[in-house]
Amino acid sequence: MRFIKVSDKLRERDKKHLWHPLTQHKVSPEMLPIAKAEGALLIDDNGKEYIDGISSWYTAVYGHCNQKITSRVAEQMQQLDQVVFSGFTHEPAVKLSEALVKILPEGQEKMFFNDNGSTATEIGIKMALQYHHNLGNDRNVMLAFEEGFHGDTFGAMSVSGLSVYNGAFKDHFIRVERIPVPKGDNNKEVISILKEHIKNHKIAGFIYEPLIQGAAAMKFHDADGLNEILKICRENEIILVADEVMTGFGKTGKYFASDYLSEKPDIVCMSKALTAGLLPMGLTSCSKKIYDAFYSEDISKGLFHGHTYTANPLACTAALAALELLQSDEIQQNINQITIFNKEFAAKLLQHSKVKNIRTLGVILAFEIDVKTDRYGGLRDRLYGFFMERGVYLRPLGNTIYIVPPYIISEEQLQKMYSVIEGCLSEF
Ligand SMILES: *Cc1c(COP(=O)(O)O)cnc(C)c1O
Repeated sequence: MRFIKVSDKLRERDKKHLWHPLTQHKVSPEMLPIAKAEGALLIDDNGKEYIDGISSWYTAVYGHCNQKITSRVAEQMQQLDQVVFSGFTHEPAVKLSEALVKILPEGQEKMFFNDNGSTATEIGIKMALQYHHNLGNDRNVMLAFEEGFHGDTFGAMSVSGLSVYNGAFKDHFIRVERIPVPKGDNNKEVISILKEHIKNHKIAGFIYEPLIQGAAAMKFHDADGLNEILKICRENEIILVADEVMTGFGKTGKYFASDYLSEKPDIVCMSKALTAGLLPMGLTSCSKKIYDAFYSEDISKGLFHGHTYTANPLACTAALAALELLQSDEIQQNINQITIFNKEFAAKLLQHSKVKNIRTLGVILAFEIDVKTDRYGGLRDRLYGFFMERGVYLRPLGNTIYIVPPYIISEEQLQKMYSVIEGCLSEF
């Protein structure tokens, strides 16, 4: 009789009723059951460990099941689990807003809660459009970068670059005009395209991932170019919506990527590391100028958007505990240390003939592997398999390899990840 492992059964049962995100099930391999997560490690149900090289989609940056966070949430659970946030308020939400205002880019004053990164940007877009609507301005077009990614709801999809994610829905998009990202050498061209759009379209807001486009394969762009775009937008009363869902909370070496820019956003979209990977939550903050355009005796000028789990006390508590960790000397030192190690690794990669476009900022490091013809096809899947076999969880995008390690990763784990990445260069 064949010995059936528990994991085999789970894989089978998974296939029966589950539909996974971003997956074409007909051509995808089976899902790997994960039984446990601890610190920087994911552990499957055979006990095999994988270093979580992307902090589980940039969420669990303080490590999985961090007791400093879980204990606080467990305590909050005994006190207040959930309450309607329309008509009621509670301490975790109030405290979180006070803590966030202290570290957010200058001028951010009001916090609007939601459920995830897509709703955070969706609300950013709605704030920008309704801001002009409330002021009686005839502006109904959003401006966005080519190849940006802002989420999977309709507004968020509309302002994202066209791909398999949103192609089927393009007839239903909100109005959007796009500009290329500034790369330094093309800044003049980008600015002239921007000025054309401003002349020809009624642009209400500009949504952008500051400095790094995550889903576009960790593409970096030019800070001076972005500053100039933001400045021109501001001069033309275009609302600046910074999507910091990926870049927020320390990953770039500063609290927010916008901290590297002199031009500050009107609206900031947050999620992912906000709650340290423990509970889902999103947040959209804005300046007093935005809020004031909604503040009126006229009820219809309000922002009539609300999710059932708005400002869930447990998620707020997780976010508060996470913020305290982020501001601690220990975590700040860790971020600095990883930044230094990443730079050293980047210098080493520079010597390698198959490595292109090495870029690093904070804990983020990315590069392209230069394989002229991918003879066997499916390079991405083969890279993924190579890393997983060696106990490192990374999700290459095409021929881009990138890491966003948790801040609590040990030096040994980080070095192991580097050496596995180096190993793939001689293999492919
Ligand atoms: C992940 C991501 C989103 C969407 O967040 P979800 O929580 O997956 O809906 C939006 N913007 C950026 C920049 C992201 O990285």
